[in-house]
Amino acid sequence: MKEKIERVAQWIADSKKVVVFVGAGMSTESGIPDFRSPGGVWDKYDPEDFDFGRFLSSEGSRQTYWRMATEMYDSMKNALPNAGHLAIAELENLGKLDCLITQNIDGLHFKAGNSQELVLELHGTAMHVTCLDCGTRYERDAVQARLSKEEKAPRCEACGGLLKPATISFGQAMPERETTEAYRRSESCDLFIVVGSSLVVHPAAAMPVVAKRAGAKLVIVNRDQTACDNLADLIIHDQAGPVMAAILTHVRQLLGGVTHWKN
Ligand code: NAD
Ligand code: ZN
Repeated sequence: MKEKIERVAQWIADSKKVVVFVGAGMSTESGIPDFRSPGGVWDKYDPEDFDFGRFLSSEGSRQTYWRMATEMYDSMKNALPNAGHLAIAELENLGKLDCLITQNIDGLHFKAGNSQELVLELHGTAMHVTCLDCGTRYERDAVQARLSKEEKAPRCEACGGLLKPATISFGQAMPERETTEAYRRSESCDLFIVVGSSLVVHPAAAMPVVAKRAGAKLVIVNRDQTACDNLADLIIHDQAGPVMAAILTHVRQLLGGVTHWKN
């Protein structure tokens, strides 16, 4: 394990363009459940209820959706970044992050200090709500505060259209700019690091394949097996937070920015 961590750190130090790609496993140590682990979201909810067509189909479906989405948001809104998020923010500070592609919707990378320009939120964000008709964007908290016995599926104050959290549901179009940019960065990086993703949700999960085909080294840090383990140059099956923190400790040393603590 120590040897693997040192090897990844060396690759980071030697690389010109490092892309980090994360999934829900990145945030479980912050108390946000992932989808597929025991006790995860799919143990509680029916994936069909997250379908975009279902959301559009009836007021009842929208109310169900908002009930589930509210429960998920409650687990996210006060969550704090963990050691893994902080390690990735440090990669940016060290000038070693070309881009961070996240499937997460919890906004924790920003709380950790990553900048807006380097983070591509492939599946949108739960921190905002958008009107599906006129595109008006609202702060999530403001809309949550409006939910009540009378208003279980809120509507746009500007046009009366349907409001939905600014996340991408199954069956909903991927955000164009983010998706195009994520493919472009994946194709042009020399090191692609996956953290906490089962790599089964497409098109997001195609990105490690794109990177590998274009000649990048592929590193996977994930507790369980992923759909791309067979492609990886190095795999660490362990907890994301401690592993990423340990990798960053070595990167810092390799780049000469060692901090000496005095007692
Ligand atoms: P997933 O649930 O399919 O896979 C998560 C993976 O992370 C699993 O393979 C699991 O073994 C691993 N994992 C869990 N905790 C870990 C830890 N502490 N350290 C290392 N590995 C750990 O999630 P996914 O691949 O991200 O894809 C599912 C979809 O989930 C994404 O589209 C995303 O939008 C959505 N989602 C996001 C959040 C969030 O924003 N935090 C939460 C739930 C789901
Ligand atoms: Zn509107």
